[in-house]
Amino acid sequence: MTVFQSTDFDGHEQVVYCGDERSGLRAIIAIHNTNLGPALGGCRMWPYGSEREALSDALRLSRGMTYKNALAGLDCGGGKAVIIGDPKSDKSEALLRAMGRAVDSLGGHYITAEDVGMTVQDMDVLRQVTPHARGVSRGCGNPSPATAFGVYNGIRAAIAYKLKRNGLDGMRIAVQGLGSVGGRLCDYLARDGARLAVADIDEPRVRRAVETHGAEAVPSAEIHGYDADVFAPCALGAILNDETIPRIKAPIVAGAANNQLAAPRHGAALTARGILYAPDYVINAGGVIDVAAEGPGYNADAVLTRAAGIHDTLLGIFQRADAEGLPTGAIADRMAEDRFLRE
Ligand code: NAD
Repeated sequence: MTVFQSTDFDGHEQVVYCGDERSGLRAIIAIHNTNLGPALGGCRMWPYGSEREALSDALRLSRGMTYKNALAGLDCGGGKAVIIGDPKSDKSEALLRAMGRAVDSLGGHYITAEDVGMTVQDMDVLRQVTPHARGVSRGCGNPSPATAFGVYNGIRAAIAYKLKRNGLDGMRIAVQGLGSVGGRLCDYLARDGARLAVADIDEPRVRRAVETHGAEAVPSAEIHGYDADVFAPCALGAILNDETIPRIKAPIVAGAANNQLAAPRHGAALTARGILYAPDYVINAGGVIDVAAEGPGYNADAVLTRAAGIHDTLLGIFQRADAEGLPTGAIADRMAEDRFLRE
């Protein structure tokens, strides 16, 4: 299979294969579109079963970053890097440095950051080799707090729009996944008086939410069907599918997880059931807003102010979706294209 034959190819500007014999690096950098600026997107390390799988992920994820960055109002295009390998056993300083050199060879056309299988410390190693690595410990570090703040603001927007309520006091919110983002999200929601139901396969994380926020613990397999005002997926992708959508009781789905819709048609399935869906790549853009701001003059407060703007972006999407009778995800895509295709 060639790049151009891949069903995930979407007019990508550049796809670069990167190898380094000595460290064992095998990676792919995909740059989807740079109309708005240099391509920005994370570097993922994953034990892909085949080169085809890795290519597919790089093509799909880089395209997603073009849309995400455009709607976040960033002057950045979309790109993504994938390293083929198990982060637990295949990662070494030599491999990370080789990845840094590969990123550097693109001269800033692609800017990398942390993603699944990578850490802030790994970004520090890449940064020793290239200035085009973001999310380092001396910079913005872990972007999860900004992501959580953006999701919190997105949930407020969805509640204001759908339930005509200002504020979260007494709102019942079911949070799936209590990791870096979901845990912090619970802190924000509880502070505003929301009543939480939570699920995680990691028992200590559930216990913390129960003890700290008086949350109700719900089995992981049942949280999407919990009788709540908002279902907030903050764990897995593809959680909105043929099996789960008929069982969702909440009138709103708004959470941090990437790729929540198992297929695009599930956006329409939610609309058909009268469920308001906050498109994942819009509501979870706080982290990339943070990473994009890293550099001289970085200001954490300004980042949070910008992440809070996700509230109004979502209101605009909800209004247009209702006016045009289309799923929110389709409207979000169109608004992103209006921005990056016009440039
Ligand atoms: P994380 O790994 O820190 O947390 C994920 C949590 O989900 C963990 O506590 C894990 O135990 C739990 N989990 C896994 N499977 C589960 C299941 N079946 N049921 C319930 N819980 C389960 O990840 P994170 O950084 O908090 O990210 C959460 C989601 O948000 C991911 O989809 C991620 O891609 C997305 N996201 C994160 C960021 C960010 O800044 N971290 C930015 C954008 C999108």
